[in-house]
Amino acid sequence: MVKKTFFTVGPSELYPTVPAHVQTALEQKIGVISHRSKQFQELYKHTTDGLRTLLNIPDNYQIFFLSSATEIWERIIQNCVEHTSFHCVNGSFSKRFYEFSGELGKKAFKAEAAFGKGFYPENIEIPSETEAICLTQNETSSGVSMPVADINKIREKNKEALLFVDAVSSLPYPEFDFSKIDSTFFSVQKCFGLPAGLGVWILNDRVIEKAKQLEAKKVLTGTYHTISSILSKAKDNQTPETPNVWNIFLLGKVIEDMNKKGIATIRKRN
Ligand SMILES: *Cc1c(COP(=O)(O)O)cnc(C)c1O
Repeated sequence: MVKKTFFTVGPSELYPTVPAHVQTALEQKIGVISHRSKQFQELYKHTTDGLRTLLNIPDNYQIFFLSSATEIWERIIQNCVEHTSFHCVNGSFSKRFYEFSGELGKKAFKAEAAFGKGFYPENIEIPSETEAICLTQNETSSGVSMPVADINKIREKNKEALLFVDAVSSLPYPEFDFSKIDSTFFSVQKCFGLPAGLGVWILNDRVIEKAKQLEAKKVLTGTYHTISSILSKAKDNQTPETPNVWNIFLLGKVIEDMNKKGIATIRKRN
């Protein structure tokens, strides 16, 4: 069979060690273990601990597993926006995130740049009532990236609103200053080189607090994947539903490989 290599917006080529880890997963029967078992709790912890090391994630940030980044867009709006969100839109992914807010009945503001262009933070005016600022660190459809320094500048000017960064097609590359962002997220089929079907959401105590406020006000925040529902299980290294155990395992293995290589080396090579 001819070996094909795809240069698309994702899925990306598998990380070189994935075939060996798939073999291990089969040998350890990862596909059939219960998500309420001790074995699952241990592999969940292994993956989240590894990610904390890789990205230098502070203790006041939680790591949640969802089905994809698209789901995370929806959960952000549902759980953290009562009325108003703000989006920097410059391509199809950032545009979709923006549209979700309107589709969920919120008022969505945007700053728009032409396809292939980026933003100057000093030109971005964010309405004061904004509850969530939604940025796309790497707009995959055009390949335009927002430098971390620019994200930090936007935060400096807007300290009240929560700041969410879609880094789906760039993590683990960007070196975020977590004191300047409240949340970021990715899907595993981009730069972690895994089969699709797992989204990873990193979020801090401010995000959790906001979700609690909306729940107390009886705003509809969802069902099994409200932040509080996920959090109550995450504390026990579990998920509310039967998750993609297979991929959580593989992600833990790939992160282990990345940590061995060292994030500094990976960033330099990138
Ligand atoms: C791929 C991508 C998404 C969507 O990821 P899914 O895994 O398909 O949900 C969101 N944002 C960006 C920037 C992407 O590149």
